[in-house]
Amino acid sequence: MSKIFPPPAPPVPPPHPPPMGLIAELTHRCPLQCPYCSNPLALDPVASELPSEVWLRVIDEAAAMGVLQIHFTGGEPLARRDLAGLVYRAAKGGIYTNIITSGVTLDDRAMAALKDAGIDHIQLSFQDIDPTENDRIGGYKGAFAKKRAAADRIRGAGLPLTLNFVIQRHNAGRVAEMLAFAELLQAERVEIAHVQYYGWGLKNRAALLPTRAQLEDSTNVVEAARERLRGKMVIDYVVPDYHAARPKSCMGGWAQRFINISPAGKALPCHAAESLPGFDFPNVRDVSLAQVWESEAFRRYRGTGWMPEPCRSCDRRELDWGGCRCQAFAILGDAGLTDPACELSPQHYLMAEAAAESAAPAPAFVYRRLGVLVS
Ligand code: SF4
Ligand code: SF4
Repeated sequence: MSKIFPPPAPPVPPPHPPPMGLIAELTHRCPLQCPYCSNPLALDPVASELPSEVWLRVIDEAAAMGVLQIHFTGGEPLARRDLAGLVYRAAKGGIYTNIITSGVTLDDRAMAALKDAGIDHIQLSFQDIDPTENDRIGGYKGAFAKKRAAADRIRGAGLPLTLNFVIQRHNAGRVAEMLAFAELLQAERVEIAHVQYYGWGLKNRAALLPTRAQLEDSTNVVEAARERLRGKMVIDYVVPDYHAARPKSCMGGWAQRFINISPAGKALPCHAAESLPGFDFPNVRDVSLAQVWESEAFRRYRGTGWMPEPCRSCDRRELDWGGCRCQAFAILGDAGLTDPACELSPQHYLMAEAAAESAAPAPAFVYRRLGVLVS
């Protein structure tokens, strides 16, 4: 009698290479109220924030997985009293540590504590180069002066300095002054980053979106400065998708390189993914970082297998990974479609319609506040 063998089991896909970076959103608290903040409209309340011991465990797990860099962000990460302790743990685990801060609370004491903890890098954000406008956009009087002092402290501590300017229709004409300021401070790097329209940015899109002419002018200024400052200062430039022909490679592809953890512990492929319905995102209170990385939510749009046409047969599919899932959902109501920022998307006309808003007078800002929507 011949033996009956069961059919061979389907091959188990090999585990995905470990994440390169961990984005630790420690809190949604922030002394500023920028109307383009990428935090979700429903901000995590203080009481829901992860306690230090969970963050420390997550940092140890990241080190064990081979994560190379950790970005402490928020909200304002300096609002967490345990920040220096978390930096220390990450540095001890051999992870490159970066803090993304508004700088308004980076006083001498905070700077010394971070330096002692082994911080590698601090990225300081500005709302504008014009002090009055800077303070108006952030909703915080005196913010510019505090940021300027924070830049000196970072320099004084011997750390590399990266400045970040967020560009929108009210300050797009001042990019040259921003670059001159970064040069004056001898920053190693400056980011000229147009607003990305998620979270509060999407809510305030009509008040923020620059015209195509403004975008082209800022691009010309950046290109000329790159030529002039080659070898002296790196200039990163991020454009808004609304005037683009192809989408950006959001986060280097869904769950390809980063894990983002919200203040309440939700593990996300990017900070905006919390807006997507139909997901059961794992929480690091319940599971390890390695389990997060192989979870169904992280695998759903990883790679190219999920792609519809026109992405499926496009030669850019492993360059931009079909664009941004959150933008596809925000504009089209379906995260599984081609990002409408792409000219090849049948719904690309919706982006052009939205871009037309930029020619109309700007409405008032809706400022970001914890718990309430305030105009
Ligand atoms: S964008 Fe503005 S409000 Fe949002 S976290 Fe950064 S500094 Fe705070
Ligand atoms: S069709 Fe898809 S893969 Fe091709 S460029 Fe557009 S978004 Fe990218």
